[in-house]
Amino acid sequence: QSIIHLEGILKSYFMGTQAIPVLKGISLDIYKNEYVALMGPSGSGKSTLMNILGCLDTPTGGRYVLNGKDVSKMADDELADVRNMEIGFVFQQFNLLPRLTAAENVALPLVYAGVSKKDRTERAMEALRKVGLADRSHHKSNEMSGGQIQRVAIARAIVNNPSLLLADEPTGNLDSKTSVEVMEIFGAIQAAGNTVVLVTHEEDIAAYAKRVIRLRDGHIESDSMNAHVHATA
Ligand code: ADP
Ligand code: ADP
Repeated sequence: QSIIHLEGILKSYFMGTQAIPVLKGISLDIYKNEYVALMGPSGSGKSTLMNILGCLDTPTGGRYVLNGKDVSKMADDELADVRNMEIGFVFQQFNLLPRLTAAENVALPLVYAGVSKKDRTERAMEALRKVGLADRSHHKSNEMSGGQIQRVAIARAIVNNPSLLLADEPTGNLDSKTSVEVMEIFGAIQAAGNTVVLVTHEEDIAAYAKRVIRLRDGHIESDSMNAHVHATA
């Protein structure tokens, strides 16, 4: 079953009356439980595609079916609901609130979803366990390393049990050893049944994914399975 089904996705930005085509017909399927790296040169359309996959933006043309729902023509408020229910985001800059503890940061999406305090605490702890940080639940950002902070951000992204986890350059601010740890966490999350799509510039980071899709100038240049996938913890 496809989590993501894209058919001839087009995206143009408009500068005055001039349309600048950025995505020029992207068609692909990503299935439940895949681990996909999206690569390509700067300006090839990766962020634009991730914004569409994450329902932060809508395509100019083509069809996007997410988990059985056609989201290509949804209004902004409907898209916001889909985003909250279906999608977890991880960003390069971690976006944790510094005054809150790890557990409180992870529980935030559940506050917005109206989950009771007791359930929030339980589910935040469960998500922190999945990223190996149960013992850091009371720590604030200034008491954690960059890698730990990014793992808290990953826990926050999965606390809603989204069907899709999207990450834009999640290791961009991390050293190579910490990057590997973070990629292993994504691998473990994928192995536990989630679908993960991440953008990276680094070949050795992409090697941790099972499938690599390369964009060039708004087209898919290649789409292939990694022959050797690093074992994950
Ligand atoms: P990548 O993430 O691969 O670097 P982007 O999706 O960010 O690529 O950008 C693809 C192209 O679209 C670039 O030429 C960029 O300048 C252009 N672009 C991105 N966002 C906008 C925008 N909001 N308005 C106009 N042009 C944009
Ligand atoms: P870039 O790929 O250029 O580094 P970011 O990763 O910061 O950009 O953001 C990618 C997209 O996600 C942008 O369109 C941005 O507006 C959006 N975005 C960034 N942070 C958040 C957030 N906390 N919540 C929702 N959308 C966000």
